Amino acid sequence: EDMTELLQTDGLTRGYGALTAVDGVDFTLGFGARHALIGPNGAGKTTLLNLIAGSIRPTSGRIRFNGTDITRATSARRCMLGIGRSFQQPAVVPGLSVLDNLVLAAWRHAHARATWGSRRLGRLTDQCRQRLGEFGLAPFADHPAGRLSHGQRRLLDIAAAMSGCPRLLLLDEPAAGLTDEDVAHLVALFGQLPAEVATLLVEHNLDVVTALASAVTVLHAGRVLRTGSPAQIQKDPEVRRAYFGSV
Ligand code: ATP
Repeated sequence: EDMTELLQTDGLTRGYGALTAVDGVDFTLGFGARHALIGPNGAGKTTLLNLIAGSIRPTSGRIRFNGTDITRATSARRCMLGIGRSFQQPAVVPGLSVLDNLVLAAWRHAHARATWGSRRLGRLTDQCRQRLGEFGLAPFADHPAGRLSHGQRRLLDIAAAMSGCPRLLLLDEPAAGLTDEDVAHLVALFGQLPAEVATLLVEHNLDVVTALASAVTVLHAGRVLRTGSPAQIQKDPEVRRAYFGSV
């Protein structure tokens, strides 16, 4: 049994009718990897992320995570095993305060892992306040989450995913809709992630990819076109062809 990889997909395939959105993808991620998924629109990036998170099931192929076959596992089970994710459209409870949104997420994670004790709400709340500080959201802790800007919601969503202490953090376009200031903040935050937390991000912004990822996989028409360092990928003629139709 191969325990050197955190995540491994074998021939992962997902079709929608006649369309194969993800087509025989073999993909591995080491412990603590900082990896980006890029590719033209419709390449299958979000579908691959959804397959790993468990929000959709593959048509065929397998997924292993940390030594366990999770191909058929529910997304709740995957979350428990250490797969956290943030969404392209972050969901918050608009009427709850920013702090309470985070406490709720952290409580759900703790509850799912059965690490919950009745006297821990105060401590959990303290931890959440601290995390809001790290994410630059402390001034909004007591505001209704519905009043946050798009970028702030995204930061809150990532903070919520982090509260599950994931081994793998899946991020769907974390920088989309963020101001330059928020992007810089996000990049700095990721620099502080524990070294053992792996991240897999879908991202169009190549500056963000270069800042956050040491390896990049290019998807094209559902297949892996190339994997390499950001510098290698940026000058790869086939990658350029996939994006621009010519070199
Ligand atoms: P983008 O960068 O535009 O978000 P992507 O690389 O994330 O693209 P996906 O969203 O994974 O691409 O979509 C891959 C292909 O699968 C597209 O052709 C898309 O239209 C199709 N697809 C995705 N989800 C569904 C669905 N639920 N039903 C039918 N087709 C779908």
